[in-house]
Amino acid sequence: MAEKKSNGQARYDELAYEKKNYFEVASEEERTAMFAYAEGYKAFLDAGKTEREACAFAVKMAKENGFTEYKFGDKLAAGDKKYFVNRGKSVVVFRVGTEDIEKDGMRIIASHIDAPRVDVKQNPLYEEDGMCFLKTHYYGGIKKYQWTAIPLALHGVVVLKDGSKVEIRVGEDPADPVFYIDDLLPHLGGEQMARTGGKIIEGEQLNVVVGGMPYADKEVSKKIKLTVLNYLNKEYGMCEEDFLSAELCAVPAFPARDIGFDRALIGAYGHDDRVCAYPALTAVVNENSRHTVLAMLVDKEEIGSEGNTGMQSKIYEDLMEDICAALGANFRKVRYASKCLSSDVTAAYDPNFSSVYEKMNSALLSCGTCMSKFTGARGKSGSNDANAEFVGEIRAMFDKEGVVWQTAELGKVDAGGGGTVAKFLAKLNIDTVDIGVPVISMHAPWELISKADLYSNYKAFLAFMK
Ligand code: MN
Ligand code: MN
Repeated sequence: MAEKKSNGQARYDELAYEKKNYFEVASEEERTAMFAYAEGYKAFLDAGKTEREACAFAVKMAKENGFTEYKFGDKLAAGDKKYFVNRGKSVVVFRVGTEDIEKDGMRIIASHIDAPRVDVKQNPLYEEDGMCFLKTHYYGGIKKYQWTAIPLALHGVVVLKDGSKVEIRVGEDPADPVFYIDDLLPHLGGEQMARTGGKIIEGEQLNVVVGGMPYADKEVSKKIKLTVLNYLNKEYGMCEEDFLSAELCAVPAFPARDIGFDRALIGAYGHDDRVCAYPALTAVVNENSRHTVLAMLVDKEEIGSEGNTGMQSKIYEDLMEDICAALGANFRKVRYASKCLSSDVTAAYDPNFSSVYEKMNSALLSCGTCMSKFTGARGKSGSNDANAEFVGEIRAMFDKEGVVWQTAELGKVDAGGGGTVAKFLAKLNIDTVDIGVPVISMHAPWELISKADLYSNYKAFLAFMK
C-alpha cells in the first residue's frame, strides 16, 4: 500500500515545477511509437546528408502523399496540399486550411537542412608525395580537429562546361570507397598537442585524400593526379576546370545508428537541424489541419541564413505573399495573425562538461523538446525574445495535447551562445518562438539525440497544427 503524502508534500507537488523524463512518463504504446518514428528519421538522415538531398527527400515524401508542386501565380483553395522548391536547396511544404486565413493566419514551422561540413574549394586538386588531395574550406562552426581520421563521403553537384549538371555521391554505399583527412601521429604530436584547440588542425590542413595510384606513363609528372582526373572524366565527364563550377562537400560517411544497449539514443551526422526538419515535414505531410500550415526547410542557417536559399532571402516572404494573393487574402493581415515555431536544436546539458551549463535552465536529455524563449549571446544579443503572452499560448497548446516538453537556454550566461532563423520571421511581425531537440556534441561529425525528444518534437508540431 502506498503511504499517504503529508499535507506539505502534497502542497509542494501541486505548486512546484519539475521536468519529467519522457521515457519514464510515456505509456508502453507511446514508447513503441517513439521507436517506430525513429526508424523513419534515421532513413531521412542517411538519405539527406546535404541540403539538396534533404530537399529531394522532402519533395519525394510530399509527392507520395498527394502533394503537388506550387509555382508563383498558381491558384489555391482550402484542402490543397503543396510544396514549393527553391533552387533544389530549400523547400516549403504546405497545406491550405479551412479557417479564414486573414483572421487565423498561417502556422509556420521553420527549420534548416544545411549542416556543418567541409566544402571542396574551386581549384582543389593536387598531388604530393604519394597522395592526391582536394583542398577545402569548412562550412559552419566546426572543431576542425574532429574532422580528421574519420571516413568521409563526397556529395554534391558539378556543372560541366556544356552547362549540364552531374551529381556525385560517393562513400555511402558499403561497396564505395571513402575519403580521408589525415592527422599527425601522437609520437610526433608534442608541439601540435600543446596548441590551443582551434589550431590543432588549421583550416588549410583540412585536405581530403582522394587517391594514391600513379598513372602508368613515365612521361607524366603528376601521375596520381592524372589517375584521379581520368577517373572523374570517365565516371562523370569532368575535367579539372569543372571544379570551378562545382559544389562538392565532404561529410561523415557513417550512417545513423542507435546508441546504447537500450537503443534509447541516436548517433548521426547532422541532427542539427534534421531532427527538427523531419518532424516538421512529417507533421505537415501526415496530418490534416484546419489551419494553413507551412513546414519550411531552409538552407544556409549555419552561415547566418544568408544568400537566396537562406531564411533572409525575400523568396520566403514572396511565397507567403503569393499564397495570400492566391487565396484572395491581405498579406499584412495574414502575417499579423500568423504564428511560428522556429525549430532548431539546442544544447543538451552534458554532465561531462557541466561547467558551461546552468543546470536549472539547461535542456536535459529525454525530457522532451525544448522551448527557448530567447537565444543569442551575452545580454541576449541577436535574439528574438518571444513575448510571455505567446509563450503562454504555445504552452497551453502543448499541455492540452499532452506534449512532454521543457524550456532552456543554451549554456550559462556569458559562456557563449548561438542564433536561429527566429528573428527573420519575427521581423515580419509574426509571433515566433524557438523550439527544438536537445543535442549532445552539436556540430561534431557524429551528434547524439534522444528518441524521446525526437518524438516529443513531432508531437509538439501536431499540437501546434490542431
Ligand atoms: Mn541549427
Ligand atoms: Mn548549427
